Amino acid sequence: MYDPLTSKTIPAFHEAGMATYWQAVTPFPDSDSVALPAQADVVVIGAGYTGLNAAATLAKEYNKQVVLLEAGSIGAGASSRNAGFLLPGTGRLGFQDYRNKYGVDVAQAVQNEFAASIAHVHEAIDHSEYHCDFTHARYLRIAHNAKAAQLLQQQQPAYQPTLLDAEWLTADSLKQQIQGLPWGHGGLALTPAAALNPRALTAVYLEQAKAAGVSIVTGHPVTHWQALGDGTHELEAAGSTIRCQQVLVCTNGYLPAQPFADISQRQFPVLSSILVSRPLNAVEQQMLGLTVNDLVMDTRLLKYYYRLLPDGRILFGGRGAVRGQDADSGKQRQRLERALVQTFPQLEGLYADYFWSGWISVALDSMPRVFSPSPGVFTSAGYCGAGVAFASLAGKRLAQLAAGETLPALPFYQTPLPKYPMPQFRRVALRGLYQWQRWFGS
Ligand SMILES: Cc1cc2nc3c(=O)[nH]c(=O)nc-3n(C[C@H](O)[C@H](O)[C@H](O)COP(=O)(O)OP(=O)(O)OC[C@H]3O[C@@H](n4cnc5c(N)ncnc54)[C@H](O)[C@@H]3O)c2cc1C
Repeated sequence: MYDPLTSKTIPAFHEAGMATYWQAVTPFPDSDSVALPAQADVVVIGAGYTGLNAAATLAKEYNKQVVLLEAGSIGAGASSRNAGFLLPGTGRLGFQDYRNKYGVDVAQAVQNEFAASIAHVHEAIDHSEYHCDFTHARYLRIAHNAKAAQLLQQQQPAYQPTLLDAEWLTADSLKQQIQGLPWGHGGLALTPAAALNPRALTAVYLEQAKAAGVSIVTGHPVTHWQALGDGTHELEAAGSTIRCQQVLVCTNGYLPAQPFADISQRQFPVLSSILVSRPLNAVEQQMLGLTVNDLVMDTRLLKYYYRLLPDGRILFGGRGAVRGQDADSGKQRQRLERALVQTFPQLEGLYADYFWSGWISVALDSMPRVFSPSPGVFTSAGYCGAGVAFASLAGKRLAQLAAGETLPALPFYQTPLPKYPMPQFRRVALRGLYQWQRWFGS
């Protein structure tokens, strides 16, 4: 699999041959890829949730001539291969973290922006022919030990003045609702949240971008970028060049080392992997007690996440391999299968029909950013594996920033992503973390 940390450039159609469950169940509309024009007002790089939203907003609301350049097909990155948890949050910081660092008012405003990100996605689906199997759900943070339970429970009252609802579920009530859950320490249920088909959501945004008049060019990895003396930019992709006033880099965890080296050193591409089982029969489903309205994530340092899909399959995800070249190995698949059985011993021997991986972007301080790293260049990244809702809204915010608007005064819109101090050691640190987790557990 393509590896952003070791590849200088991203190959065209890097995602080819990596089948996902979503691909099997979601026919995709033709993207009508055009030849690369010589000029545009704005070039958006990357056709995932961020890029498609940014491109559509600039074309529709600011009348810009927008060209969207994508290395692979539409949604070649994480946007078509994630777990479809539409979560009221992003990054790895919780309410307490924001409150401790920025004060209670900012922490509440942040939660309200997260609620707005869910509403943004909901509205897009409402106006589309794709229903995306959108199902209102609750986001269940399940405590894996007593200490984690205490921390989770302490958070609950803090949500009261926000647009999010938080309900503390005791160990008993949780066990009554979801009999198959592994731990008996309780959990926090957050709403609004939703379960959806992530690939269909990409189709929704593609439809919007096309309707707004965005020119879409697929199979064109951007390999060179130059800021010219007159304030314009020149980009090279698949042997052709394009000039523009502004460049929006919407590549998140898939950004290779070049040509945006500065941005690439501000994030850490990490693999996340997913298994999808065969459909469970009625008895198996009853044993677990999970419903399609439960989006579950545990509190371990290296978390596992799972949900029941509308056709009765279990989707189970967690950390992937360290290197791209090991992403699809049998060893990785078996590791995740073992984690599934440790979580649900009732499912011992269950065969997984699908297994795949994708790159997430981890920010040094666990908080994504929408920012401008240099004149005329704008980017949004660092969602830390929680970007279905937020990347969609961040794409719109990025477009607003490029159009000269002032963004809401929230921490992730005010500063750039911090640089990793010794970026060449990012992978060594990850290996160390995984090893530590193997030896000492959570
Ligand atoms: C396995 C997995 C499970 C996940 N589950 C969830 C979940 O349940 N809920 C949640 O909220 N989040 C989840 N996420 C995270 C979420 O999918 C991402 O945060 C979100 O999709 C990011 O969208 P994006 O548009 O910024 O980036 P991406 O969708 O990754 O798109 C980046 C695009 O940039 C293109 N690109 C890169 N470099 C270049 C270049 N030089 N030239 C041209 N194109 C380029 C790539 O081909 C790619 O299509 C998951 C991620 C993974 C990998």
